[in-house]
Amino acid sequence: MKALKHKILEEGNVLSESVLKVDSFLNHQIDPVLMQQIGQEFAQRFKDAGITKVLTLESSGIAPSVMTALELGVKTVFARKRKSLTLIDGLYSAEVYSFTKKESNEISVSEQYISKEDNVLVIDDFLANGQAALGLTDIVEQSGATLVGIGIVIEKGFQTGRALLEERGIRVESLAIIDSLADGKVTFKEEL
Ligand code: 5GP
Repeated sequence: MKALKHKILEEGNVLSESVLKVDSFLNHQIDPVLMQQIGQEFAQRFKDAGITKVLTLESSGIAPSVMTALELGVKTVFARKRKSLTLIDGLYSAEVYSFTKKESNEISVSEQYISKEDNVLVIDDFLANGQAALGLTDIVEQSGATLVGIGIVIEKGFQTGRALLEERGIRVESLAIIDSLADGKVTFKEEL
């Protein structure tokens, strides 16, 4: 997706050979115009899949998921990372090891919001080693719903996430695939 790749080149900060910081439009401040375009692009790619729900993980997945769900005319649910006082019983839960925080979190979704009749699209901001996506996949499996695919805003193609998901037969659609972050520079897999 051209507009996204331009934004990454203009505003992304390469923190190391494996971490890209995009706080100015995705992970802290949010650019709603770009998010709308991202939602339109995911909706276009999955338009024939009969999606009934979009599932993501708080907090950075919420903006692209809301815009995608709006385009598809369905609701979005975000898995919570912290135990909530009001979210106790009737939960689907999974353990997720965080690439950026180097710690494990239990993520959970109320059974009320995903059921076995749902066709679920999972959305996340980044794909690195696939742990967040696998945790969300696990939650979809527990609910008995059908996983239609996974939409990723920024994939780091040099990490293992895609292989892990594809070997499970999961469709992965990424809007920007980064080939390398070497020498402080972002290189994409395909041309702009
Ligand atoms: P994974 O679970 O695929 O290993 O990592 C994906 C999760 O880690 C995403 O939800 C995202 O929050 C975070 N993440 C992984 N790599 C990066 C990165 O390079 N930059 C940022 N900002 N977040 C990342």
